[in-house]
Amino acid sequence: MKHSWSEKTRQPNGDSRKICTREGCEIVCVSCHRIDDHGRQDHFREWWRGSEKIQIGGNTPVCEVVEVPA
Ligand SMILES: [Zn+2]
Repeated sequence: MKHSWSEKTRQPNGDSRKICTREGCEIVCVSCHRIDDHGRQDHFREWWRGSEKIQIGGNTPVCEVVEVPA
């Protein structure tokens, strides 16, 4: 199942962030833009659920209902 992404929002540090609006999934995709030690642009994605970082880079995690402990 495909994620139902919200509008992207721009963070003050230049990252952009979107959230899956499907109830129970609500995964957050953060597109990170960094300058590495050699002055090169670095671009990668982080995936979050709540305050937990579940993945860095790679393929988009599947859209699924996940029980998040309160
Ligand atoms: Zn989703």
